[in-house]
Amino acid sequence: MDIFEKLKATHHEQVMFLREQVSGLRGIVAIHDTTLGPAIGGVRMWDYQTEEEAVEDALKLSRAMTYKAAGAGLNFGGGQTVIIGDPRKDKSEALFRALGRFIDSLGGRYIAAEGVGTTYEDMDYIRMETRYVVGIPSSRGGSGDPSPMCAYGVIRGLEACQVFRTGSDNLAGLKVAVQGVGKVGSIIVKLLLERGANVTIADVDRDAIERVCKSHDVTVVSPDEVFDVECDVFCPCALGGIINDTTVSRLRCRVVAGAANNQLEEPRHGDQLHERGILYAPDYIINAGGLINVTDEIYGYDEKRALRKTAAIRDVLYRILVSSKEERIPTYKAADQLARQRIEKVGRVRRSYVSS
Ligand code: NAD
Repeated sequence: MDIFEKLKATHHEQVMFLREQVSGLRGIVAIHDTTLGPAIGGVRMWDYQTEEEAVEDALKLSRAMTYKAAGAGLNFGGGQTVIIGDPRKDKSEALFRALGRFIDSLGGRYIAAEGVGTTYEDMDYIRMETRYVVGIPSSRGGSGDPSPMCAYGVIRGLEACQVFRTGSDNLAGLKVAVQGVGKVGSIIVKLLLERGANVTIADVDRDAIERVCKSHDVTVVSPDEVFDVECDVFCPCALGGIINDTTVSRLRCRVVAGAANNQLEEPRHGDQLHERGILYAPDYIINAGGLINVTDEIYGYDEKRALRKTAAIRDVLYRILVSSKEERIPTYKAADQLARQRIEKVGRVRRSYVSS
């Protein structure tokens, strides 16, 4: 891999390779774009088979964070840490403290958060070495579990889709198929039922299904059948890549709107949804509530402020849907355009000198 060619192509600002002898830490911090503010992004620990795979992941995820933060109106850029290692075997206090010291050496250019394979306990070790980490439990005055805010943002996004399609934000009577009823999906189910929607759920985990069925009146289908459910909204809240060659033609919905990250396996699947007349709520716009919640810690966490900022997802998404219609482009492209425009405009405004 020609790393500098790669960075030129992806417009990355900086990549730091980390190695620490005592803890065995091998990691990468990628900073994509800090035009809007410090880069923020998760710490992913994964048993990468090759170093190249780890670099690719760090570059891809940090770039996605730039778009997500910009789209959510946040003054943060995109970053990502990846640690090469098996999260079940290779974790230690020393490893995360070593990472914390590297993050501290960046002087605030990158702020870490929990990610795949890491927990808030790991973040606590990082915090012993640097203040540039977010995701503190609510019991200690932090933002706590981001799932409820993420779910609320998805509901606001659904309202935007409804207004766009019907002129009303009323979700009563809406038929929604929720794929994955874990931390976020189960709260979305509750919020939908409170608003009078009819909900069908699917999950590979029987316990997750039972937990929802115990307190809610929903229809259950198998994880495979969920793609064929005739509904208004298909709401992906499980894994990424679920809009793919196999599933895109099966969907019998009018809208795809859910919490899962990286829903489109490839951008062309977004084009296919567009061609089929299915309204796609770009994932990083509609699921930004979690990020909005955690970044609020930087200002001293205030739940009301985080709720207010998350509520604005409705307006942002509506603008994207309108611009997709006016410009006859798929919604995922309209979202990227909005994020890029914000970075460009704010970047230009901030070029002029002011004494500090
Ligand atoms: P979770 O692990 O709590 O829930 C995911 C659920 O999906 C689990 O119950 C799992 O059994 C189920 N599942 C897995 N594979 C499935 C399949 N093939 N079919 C049906 N169900 C399946 O995760 P979560 O925190 O609820 O996050 C859900 C999605 O939302 C993820 O893609 C995550 O990256 C994204 N997301 C979460 C947050 C947050 O605040 N938690 C924020 C932004 C985005």
